[in-house]
Amino acid sequence: MAKIVGIDLGTTNSLVAIVNDGVPKVLAGRDGMTLVPSVISFDESGAVQVGHAAKETQVEKSRNTIFSIKRFMGKGIDDVREDLALLPFEVAPDSEHIIRLKIFGRDYTPPELSAFILRELKRNAEAALGEEVVNAVITVPAYFNDAQRQATKDAGRIAGLDVLRIVNEPTAASLAYGLQEKKQGTIAVYDFGGGTFDISILKLSEGIFEVLSTSGDTHLGGDDIDERLIRLVMSELKQTPDVHQIQAIRKAVNLAKEELSRKDSSQIAVDALGYHKHLTRSEFNALIEPIIERTLTPCRQAMKDAGIKAPDVDEVVMVGGSTRIPLVRERVQDLFGRVPHTELNPDEVVALGAAVQADILAGGKRDMLLLDVTPLSLGIETVGGVLSKIIPRNSTIPASATEMFTTFVDGQTNVKIHVLQGERELVKDSRSLAQFELKDIPPMVAGMPRIEVKFLIDADGILSVSAQEMRTGKYASIEVKPTYGLTDEQVEQMILDSFEYAEADIEARQVIEARNEAQTVLAATAKGLEDEEYNNLSSDEKEEITAATQYLQKTLSAEDHRAIRDAIDRLSHATMRLAELIMNAAISKALKDKRVREIQ
Ligand code: ADP
Ligand code: MG
Repeated sequence: MAKIVGIDLGTTNSLVAIVNDGVPKVLAGRDGMTLVPSVISFDESGAVQVGHAAKETQVEKSRNTIFSIKRFMGKGIDDVREDLALLPFEVAPDSEHIIRLKIFGRDYTPPELSAFILRELKRNAEAALGEEVVNAVITVPAYFNDAQRQATKDAGRIAGLDVLRIVNEPTAASLAYGLQEKKQGTIAVYDFGGGTFDISILKLSEGIFEVLSTSGDTHLGGDDIDERLIRLVMSELKQTPDVHQIQAIRKAVNLAKEELSRKDSSQIAVDALGYHKHLTRSEFNALIEPIIERTLTPCRQAMKDAGIKAPDVDEVVMVGGSTRIPLVRERVQDLFGRVPHTELNPDEVVALGAAVQADILAGGKRDMLLLDVTPLSLGIETVGGVLSKIIPRNSTIPASATEMFTTFVDGQTNVKIHVLQGERELVKDSRSLAQFELKDIPPMVAGMPRIEVKFLIDADGILSVSAQEMRTGKYASIEVKPTYGLTDEQVEQMILDSFEYAEADIEARQVIEARNEAQTVLAATAKGLEDEEYNNLSSDEKEEITAATQYLQKTLSAEDHRAIRDAIDRLSHATMRLAELIMNAAISKALKDKRVREIQ
């Protein structure tokens, strides 16, 4: 079995990991370091450097060094204007749908740029494992939408990786801690990285992770702490430093910050400027307190959105390099009233969890299902007990789809929307998720109302279904949780069944559909016979209609959809001239009404 690696493609740092003999571990690069800074630098000759090497030359090559590319994944220029204002990148024209960055006269899309990082991780993994690596699981923030997830998959493909699964970062972190073994519980994942802060509330039930809510701040992270310290240094300098000196200050404060996570005091040492400053942890804490405070509001919001309170949280998981800071741990512990998990390296846990997920896919464990794709098709019941699929199985979430339906009975004022899940063709073989009614539709002829049914699964895996009658605007909706309570075996069985019964199912479905159509045609014909235009037909024409009607009524009970369709065709043919007459009459009447109205 080919190995599958787990990859954390981060905004600031990226890592690759694998499960070996049941134990996940991160793989180091040639430089012996496991973190690969998500930085790519180009030079005129076309040479590309990735990671530490690229970060080193960031100042000299500032316009040709790309970082934070994750912010641009799956986005067009209008989505990222705010980010662009803060980054020194040149944008190529034609960036509406996919943003393109211009580097030495060549345009690069974010997936292409991310692919450089992925290729580096792939190479590192291959060197460490001594074999080719093609299969990968890649993590993304829980709030990533379909476009962003797709862009991440594309990046993998470009890098020569087969991306078997996209996993939510908080889910991966929980897997790294083995929390799935507990089967039940509510988990808060607090992820404080380099430039972003994310909080996710997950619910674990029967070993299935579900994201209940996410919140955060896309511009809050360790970088802000560095900036705070840089400002402190600058305020104490006599001269204004140039870009190189600022870079030297940045390095120095970063070192001091990291040391203060381990020690009670440190020194900010910028030799180039002859600047040295002793800093105690409590001085440091006072400086960063407001920054940490800014992470707590989203935490409260996420709990509120998930409909829970701090005591409902069973586990708190710390993710991201900035959670090494003792004050961060303290504040988070105070907020949730629970000691957070910090046993694993916080900058490695996402990659470790991705490796656990990879191991599950490789067959290491088969008792888990993650809610990152819709495992079963979703749809609604239509006439005759048929399941009309709206979102197919394995669609990556979030997903949405819209379809038009109509009424089957004349004057129908209520429509029942029965939401179903499953791979079979018939309602009786599917799982019922929810039902609701669209009420008070004004009475209309069958087939006349235009009911738009919209399915939406948001990034949290929550399905909402809405129905709207387009002529009147009548609207109803419901929220359902698609896979809640369904075990992996059930899902598997439903998929297997769908193959086994596929042929019989399709035949049964076609018969039902043909019968439904026949009923509609018969009803329309019966109404046409009452119309005064009917009297304008010849007796031959009238006879043919009667004969075709009787023939269709007789054929209706046949179990052969082709026979029913033939009978429908015959009746449709027989009523063609009648339909034409009625239509013409209706049109001239409408025109007359219009004229009257216009004169008024
Ligand atoms: P991301 O997920 O955004 O790619 P990481 O989780 O790797 O980023 O976090 C990177 C951030 O963590 C940087 O701002 C870095 O300075 C910070 N960091 C790493 N180690 C420590 C430490 N020991 N103390 C404080 N901050 C740290
Ligand atoms: Mg991260």
